[in-house]
Amino acid sequence: MTDPLLSQRLADVRGGIIDAARLAGRSVDDITTVVVTKFQPVSLVSELIELGVRDFGESRHQEAQAKATELAGSGIRWHFVGQVQGKKARQIRSYASVIHSVDRDSLVTGLASPVPDASVPGASVPDGSVPDTSVLDCFVQVNLTEDPARGGVSIPDLAPLVERVIAAPGLRLLGLMAVAPLGADPKRSFALVSELGSQMRGIAPDARYLSMGMSQDYAAAIAEGATHLRIGTAITGNRPAAVNLKTS
Ligand SMILES: *Cc1c(COP(=O)(O)O)cnc(C)c1O
Repeated sequence: MTDPLLSQRLADVRGGIIDAARLAGRSVDDITTVVVTKFQPVSLVSELIELGVRDFGESRHQEAQAKATELAGSGIRWHFVGQVQGKKARQIRSYASVIHSVDRDSLVTGLASPVPDASVPGASVPDGSVPDTSVLDCFVQVNLTEDPARGGVSIPDLAPLVERVIAAPGLRLLGLMAVAPLGADPKRSFALVSELGSQMRGIAPDARYLSMGMSQDYAAAIAEGATHLRIGTAITGNRPAAVNLKTS
């Protein structure tokens, strides 16, 4: 059984995405909607799976890991959209299909595959475990504000970080991610991200995706070329009270 209000909100947002894509002359097939379920119970994720959702976003490692464990085998993809603590990077890599929030060099090192130590004959990886040959998709998050606490790399530091990611073993750069700053015109913010994305393709030609657009501003994001929307409350309804606690 699924909540009729939940399926209604999902249908409304899907309709809104179709409308915005049509207005922008874009195909909805080029737009992935990640439903952000942070702070929501795993039962809500299960209901959304029944309604056909396959891409889910989480922003806190412990919560994401618990949900991923509980729903293992359900064929869904987890997108990590929150700030990543360096020491959790490898664990996040183990269940996430996509990380949207790569924002510093040290994190690239933490997320990249360990490479075999060529100086040791017969060595696999430094800790002796089986080499990890999987590829993790990621976005570099750009900070459009002056506040470093918001997460994301500053615009002047963007190109060097993109170079680091494309050189890192086991990481595939999809493109750029951003959150529109509060109080700014989201359309202008997303146009800037799109422009930065075009510039980055000079050094990373395959990084053509843009993760931008949330509940309040996804239509503007679609107009500016978003390929990955991260939508929470417009679909899930309000988050439980814990959302007011400062977490990451
Ligand atoms: C929570 C969150 C979202 C979803 O926000 P809504 O306003 O609920 O749609 C999107 N992106 C990130 C990075 C988030 O933390």
